[in-house]
This record gives sequence, C-alpha cells and structure tokens, in this order.
Amino acid sequence: MTDINTDVLIIGGGVAGSAAAYALSKRGYGVLLLEKSEKPQDTARGDHLQPAVCEILGKWSVLDHFLNNGAKKRAGSLWFDEDANFLMDANVSNLEIPEPYFMFMNHEEISGIFVSASEKNESFSFLCPIISCVHVETNEKESIFEIKSKDGTVKTASTKMIVIADGVASNMGRYFKFERNSFRYERALAVLFSDEYEADEFNNLRTYLTDRGIVTMIPRAKGGCKIGLTINREEIKSWKKMTPIEYQEFIGQLVPAYKDLKMYSAGIYPPSMIIAENWAKDNIVLIGDACHGLHPGRSQGMNTTIKCVDHLLDLLPEKGSFNKENVVQTLDQYQKSMKSNINELLEANHSMGLSMDKFDHESKVHDIEKFKLLEQNKEAGHAYRMKSAGYGVF
Ligand SMILES: Cc1cc2nc3c(=O)[nH]c(=O)nc-3n(C[C@H](O)[C@H](O)[C@H](O)COP(=O)(O)OP(=O)(O)OC[C@H]3O[C@@H](n4cnc5c(N)ncnc54)[C@H](O)[C@@H]3O)c2cc1C
Repeated sequence: MTDINTDVLIIGGGVAGSAAAYALSKRGYGVLLLEKSEKPQDTARGDHLQPAVCEILGKWSVLDHFLNNGAKKRAGSLWFDEDANFLMDANVSNLEIPEPYFMFMNHEEISGIFVSASEKNESFSFLCPIISCVHVETNEKESIFEIKSKDGTVKTASTKMIVIADGVASNMGRYFKFERNSFRYERALAVLFSDEYEADEFNNLRTYLTDRGIVTMIPRAKGGCKIGLTINREEIKSWKKMTPIEYQEFIGQLVPAYKDLKMYSAGIYPPSMIIAENWAKDNIVLIGDACHGLHPGRSQGMNTTIKCVDHLLDLLPEKGSFNKENVVQTLDQYQKSMKSNINELLEANHSMGLSMDKFDHESKVHDIEKFKLLEQNKEAGHAYRMKSAGYGVF
C-alpha cells in the first residue's frame, strides 16, 4: 500500500508540468504534481503565447482565468529597420481565428495560474517543495516512487503514468535513460529590461533589423519591456560586466530611437537545441524543455508544450479505462504521431537559430525586402500572420 495512489505523477512544476497538471486534472484524472523549488521561475523567460495556444487554453476553460489574473493581450508585432522606418504590421487582429491576439504574462506567474486553476479540480494534489523523488519500482500495474518533502515528510506514491517535466537539464529523463541530441548555437540571447518603456495601445512587439541581428522590444504585462538581442559567445564575459549606461549606449547605437531609454540586464541565455530521441517509453512521457529545449528566439518552448499536452490529451484513454497497459499503448501512439507532427517546427526553429548565428548586413538587407513585400502582398502577409499565430505548423 502506498500513501498516495494517482493516475498521473508529474515531476516538475514549471509551465510544462503545471499546464499538464491542469489539463489532466480538469479531465478528471488523478494528478500529483511535484516541484522542488519554492523560488519563483526566472522572470526573463517565456511570456508570449500564440493565438493557437490561446484557443487551446479556451478549450481547456482556463483562458479567462489567465486574463482575469493579469495576462494581457497583444495584437502582434511591428517590423522596422534600425532607423525605425516601418516595414510590416504583422498583427493578427483581423485573422478569422477564435482568439485573434497573443497573450502575455510575466513568466514566473504562468505556472502559478495553472496551479491555482488546478486546485479547483478535486483530483489534483501538489507537493512543493520536495527534496527528492526516488523511483522505487515499476511493475505490471504501476510505478512506485518515494517522495521526500522539505518539511521532512516522506510519502510513497503509486502512479499509472509518469510525466517528466523537469526542464532542460532533465535529471529524471537521464535516470530513465532517455537519449537526447543537442546543438549549441554560436550566439547567445541577451535580455535587458527597461522599466520606462511605454507600449503602444495594442501592446505590439517591435522588432528592428540591424546589421548585427534583430533587436526586439517586448512589452511586459506589468509595464516596461524586455529587450532581446543576440551577442557573440566571446562578448558574453564583457557583456556581463557592462553598466546600465553601457547597455543603453549599446542599444542606442543599434537602434538610435532608444538612445535615451534606461535599461538593465535581465539575463543571458546561451541557446542550445536539446531534443530527446524518444518522447515516450513504457508509461513515461517527456514534456516541455525536458523533451524539446528549443532556441528561444522564436518564442516556441511553452507554445509547443501546450500543443503537445493538448495532443496527448486527445489520445489518452477515458478515466474508466485508464490503466498502465492502456497508457503504454497511448504513449507509443503519441510518440509516433508527435515525431511526424513536430519535425517541421523543429527544423524551422533550428534554421532560425542558425540564421541568427550568421546574421549580418546582407541578411538585414534581405529581411528588409522580405518584410516590405509581406506588408504589400496580401496573400503572403496573411500566410505569415497565420504561421506566427501558430496555425499551419504544429
Ligand atoms: C529568454 C527566453 C525567452 C523565451 N520566450 C518564450 C516565449 O515568449 N514563448 C514561449 O513559448 N517560450 C519561450 N521561451 C521558452 C520557455 O521559457 C521554456 O520553453 C519553458 O519555460 C520551459 O518550461 P518547462 O516547464 O519545460 O521547464 P522549466 O521552466 O525549467 O521547469 C522545470 C521545473 O522542474 C522543476 N524540477 C526539476 N527537477 C525536479 C525534480 N527532480 N523534482 C521536482 N521538480 C523538479 C524545476 O524546479 C522547475 O520548476 C523563452 C525562453 C527564454 C530563455
């Protein structure tokens, strides 16, 4: 006999684990979510959800919970050259889709919103902070874990399905011998914050094409903005030592319109792509960065995770027939269908990472023409907007 018997054990309470916990407990499955950290998640990470993902959150009946708790809507993105000459308005407001806007919220709040929504589901329980979660055995019917909480309590739990959502390092993935392939890009993503930045009335994201890559001004849900740009690996050391005035001068030289904007460093992310070879085996499934650590330049990590969880939800057996044998079959099916669904997205993400590595004057000139044409050509512009909204690609 174990202390807790659940249908699904989820290890890791970041956006991936908490989104899965919400969606699965809402469907009535017993869910035990484990999180080891009491600290808020890193605020500079993903904050931007696509319209296609908002549609999924609407279907899951959690979209309003986000919007009522501080998430904001954005029309889309505006593209400019480095002198702030307008190139393209890629807003999604006129698309015929259920939720024609992007939703954004500071990263550290997103998992809390999923957890608070999950708490309304009777079948949900949450242990946080835990110190360890040790796999004891997997038999024909279930897997058994021993979980030690920070307050010293030790509980045993049995589960029919294991969801590993412990982030890009994925120690649990390693423990269960999931092989992963990784690729390290040349340029790191540097993120700055400005508390002074004022967004336009549509909260548009503004992207500037410069000789050394794109500089993006991303309005934050509680005011100010996040500024994203790439820096070379050899610049990382000196970048870390720069003062706020030096960051301001650096950005001001790239995009003179922001020469007077005060800013400070929010973090540096050496981007890698880490993709698990198998996404599921036996009764275990990987989700989130544990499964697909993507280059952050295209805002895909959380968006992809929520789409994956939704796809998994469609395949899972009903509560009445939710046993380990059926779970194993479902996860095998999930793994096969995901592989073909996701390849295009992974390839597009990888080639974007490679092009960000090589971005130079020629790339800028090419992209300026590309965005001018997209602004003029209705059909191509529509296709671009649909893709950025998360439709047509997985
Ligand atoms: C600068 C930047 C900007 C980004 N922008 C976007 C964006 O706009 N849109 C988007 O979709 N994506 C974006 N991303 C990507 C996105 O942030 C990540 O893909 C996403 O946050 C990953 O979530 P996760 O839950 O898989 O992993 P994590 O956030 O790493 O969560 C893993 C959790 O597991 C816990 N954990 C680890 N081990 C254990 C254990 N043994 N037991 C219990 N708990 C454990 C950790 O404490 C952590 O809370 C961005 C990334 C970066 C770096």
